[in-house]
Amino acid sequence: MTADVIDGKLFAEGLRGRIATLAAEFTAQSGRKAGLAVVLVGEDPASQVYVRSKGKATLAAGMASFEHRLPADTPEAELIALVEALNADPAVDGILVQLPLPAHCDEQKVIATINPDKDVDGFHVTNAGRLAVGQPGFVPCTPLGCLMLLKDRLGSLSGLDAVVIGRSNIVGKPMAQLLLAESCTVTVAHSRTRNLPEVVRRADIVVAAVGRPEMVKGDWIKPGATVIDVGINRVAAAEPGKTRLVGDVDFAGASEVAGAITPVPGGVGPMTIAVLLRNALVAAFRNAGITLPEGTI
Ligand code: NDP
Repeated sequence: MTADVIDGKLFAEGLRGRIATLAAEFTAQSGRKAGLAVVLVGEDPASQVYVRSKGKATLAAGMASFEHRLPADTPEAELIALVEALNADPAVDGILVQLPLPAHCDEQKVIATINPDKDVDGFHVTNAGRLAVGQPGFVPCTPLGCLMLLKDRLGSLSGLDAVVIGRSNIVGKPMAQLLLAESCTVTVAHSRTRNLPEVVRRADIVVAAVGRPEMVKGDWIKPGATVIDVGINRVAAAEPGKTRLVGDVDFAGASEVAGAITPVPGGVGPMTIAVLLRNALVAAFRNAGITLPEGTI
């Protein structure tokens, strides 16, 4: 058996198309563009790449992008003052502070300053709480993207056994909440889980968000299961001096057993920015008091 490959790049392109259509509708109805502000402190190369692609994707969707690049030694108080100014700016619907922050800035304190209704990353405790109790809020982009891929593939998830490997606040925990809200029976596994292969073997849905290259083996997978690989790990390539990206799942092995699987790259990765744009547009509609057409994004 060879699993179907879930094309996250293609799905994300479709989502971005729907977002662009709705963004134009938002502009027509509100008289302004939906706006996303991204704050980058310091010069971390990976963060610079992310911020650049977020800005480009925002503009491509017909939304306004506000980029704030601050030097690495910016005092925490100055960063907080900027977030407060963005909270008060009616042109800004969504605020994203790129993590990690330099060590002298308290990430939790900075995130807590963001107005929860502009917190498009969904990291504010208010949004984590809203997700836990089932109120509308903002859900972190990567797990929400995983859920979209799962629903696109499987339709209803009700009653399915789901195993989420990883319990971080940005992926594992919100993923588990989302699957529970879809009426899955959810197990959250982590570094202390006993007999992980056996736990994973029960699952109709496996979401791996661990950060360990190709840890999940093919013989851990239940035949026909749907496997979502969140991991992004850079490892040495066969060619000396070169590297390549792999996920947390042994793709070749798991493809022999699973019903469907996301590749790395080209699976979950492209979904994250698309969902960020989605969250920013949802924020714009909510903040402007305009009803978002049901079921569109
Ligand atoms: P964290 O490091 O915050 O969390 C990793 C989790 O994996 C922890 O809960 C940890 O358990 C668990 N874990 C570690 N080792 C094992 C093990 N041997 N067995 C079982 N569980 C284990 O990572 P993130 O959640 O931030 O990210 C996970 C992966 O997803 C990374 O590869 C990251 O690069 C990728 N990622 C991809 C994104 C995308 O856009 N596609 C976005 C965000 C992340 P414990 O809590 O017990 O320590």
